[in-house]
Amino acid sequence: NADVAMYHAKAQGRNNIQFFNPQMNQAAMERSRMSQALRVALDEGQFELHYQAQLDTRSRAVVGFEALIRWRHPVEGLISPQEFIPVAEDTSLILPLGEWVLDEACRQLREWQDAGMNGVTMAINLSAHQLRSPKLVSHVAATLEKHRLQGADIELEITESVAMHNPEASIKQLQALRNLGLRLSIDDFGTGYSSLSYLKLLPIQTLKLDRSFVRDIETDVNNVIICTTTIALAHSLGLKVVGEGVETTAQHNLLKAHGCDLVQGFLFSKPLTAALVPGFVDENLASRMQIVYA
Ligand code: C2E
Ligand code: MG
Ligand code: MG
Ligand code: MG
Repeated sequence: NADVAMYHAKAQGRNNIQFFNPQMNQAAMERSRMSQALRVALDEGQFELHYQAQLDTRSRAVVGFEALIRWRHPVEGLISPQEFIPVAEDTSLILPLGEWVLDEACRQLREWQDAGMNGVTMAINLSAHQLRSPKLVSHVAATLEKHRLQGADIELEITESVAMHNPEASIKQLQALRNLGLRLSIDDFGTGYSSLSYLKLLPIQTLKLDRSFVRDIETDVNNVIICTTTIALAHSLGLKVVGEGVETTAQHNLLKAHGCDLVQGFLFSKPLTAALVPGFVDENLASRMQIVYA
């Protein structure tokens, strides 16, 4: 299939000479098939958001949720974003998909606020394409207004590489979002290439320490150093730090000892369906009350 092969060659860069073998062709066709299926899925409402709690490291109070997309495929079941977000990115489908995520996360937060859940922010992942889109800022503003939310209710997460790709353009977009009152964070910090001189120019409030550093923090002394140095760097730039992927009490205690502000991970909660969130918040509150009054 010449179109598919051409598309694949383009994805690899214009000046690369590509030698196609049957496996590569199959991978390209797989992606093309998936992008078709993603379009159908968007039309038919097969996506859903799950929500993972972010907690204050010391008090364990829930301070926010991160919205994480899933594809509920009628035959294959629940599909992870790692499988389809890269395809959506490559095909620009990420733009309408990202709009859906923003709208749905804001709608959900409004519903929770109306039910009395206050002081909880919603973190939303933003892709490279979205950050580059000239419509992003006006669309975010319109979505906030539609759901009667404040800018400060929403935090947008972008990865380092996305922010650093075209720093001048990123800074402009991020500043415009910041002017709407949104909070901004760098996701998976430490895994991309970051220029520290640009980092300090970005109008961000939070660094999310990548899960790969937290994972081996108990056994790998280098990871302890990376975590403590990153926390110190962040604090010296006036930023908060979220420890990602906290799975054990030992990891939580280490991050707490080193002043990490917020934590997120399976130790506290897996990403939950929307229906489970209010119960989780009530239980979290009740268990902290018990500690206070015990
Ligand atoms: P991320 O933004 O870094 O999200 C954190 C990922 O780590 C999530 O995977 C979450 O389920 C997982 N995680 C959280 N705590 C733990 C833990 O304690 N242990 C382990 N092993 N994993 C943990 P998920 O939901 O599969 O999402 C993967 C990535 O897909 C996200 O990484 C994000 O980059 C992307 N993604 C998810 N939703 C969206 C979206 O709506 N838009 C865009 N553009 N990307 C999204
Ligand atoms: Mg994220
Ligand atoms: Mg992350
Ligand atoms: Mg990630």
